[in-house]
Amino acid sequence: MKNIVIAIDGNSGCGKSSTAKVIARKLKYIYIDTGAMYRAVTLFFIKYQIDLKNASDVDSALKQIDISFEYNIETGKNETFLNGKNVENKIRQMKVSNMVSPVSEISMVRRKLVEQQRRLGKEKGVVMDGRDIGTVVFPDAELKIFMTADLEVRALRRQKELMEKNTEVELEEVIENLKSRDNIDSSRADSPLKKAQDAYEIDTSNLTFDEQVNQILDLIKDKVEVE
Ligand code: C5P
Repeated sequence: MKNIVIAIDGNSGCGKSSTAKVIARKLKYIYIDTGAMYRAVTLFFIKYQIDLKNASDVDSALKQIDISFEYNIETGKNETFLNGKNVENKIRQMKVSNMVSPVSEISMVRRKLVEQQRRLGKEKGVVMDGRDIGTVVFPDAELKIFMTADLEVRALRRQKELMEKNTEVELEEVIENLKSRDNIDSSRADSPLKKAQDAYEIDTSNLTFDEQVNQILDLIKDKVEVE
């Protein structure tokens, strides 16, 4: 099978990451969670109280940030490292979720991360999920998926994920966070979240996890056989 780039975009909490992870494992591809990269930058900005409106502060903070991923054999997961420290759990906290969209609006931040994402996907054989993968990072990706799901369904899934990490959070708070991120992510000037013209849309509201994985695997088979 030839190696391709699979771009999975969509709103927060519609199951992109968990689906992308399984697809990558099945194909023996690399999986890159670009949301984790924006979250790691946000964590750094919160820690050092970077003023998002101060371009020179943002620029010098970005120069001090190194993001990498390492596979953890015990958990079977790719984990996120910020300047050599494992931040996988920290970046999922609500305080990061509440700040990540304003940070992601900053073009300087996007430029740095998109450059790294292109390097990571250069050899193909990659599943990358985010908001602008099919439109900006890899506009020539061989397969583009745009995932959606109802807000309520997404919020319940996100709340369950947080609970599994022992974080209690009210459903209302999760809903407000998702709504606000949807809003900022799809209306920002630089690389807004939108469906690429040639992306396949999959609404996961009423699909089981296996069904959503299988739909994508079928699309991959078509692509790899046809092209
Ligand atoms: O995927 P996740 O929900 O972890 O992404 C967190 C945030 O990172 C998004 O709400 C969005 O603001 C930002 N993001 C982005 N571009 C990407 C991936 C994530 O702007 N490619």
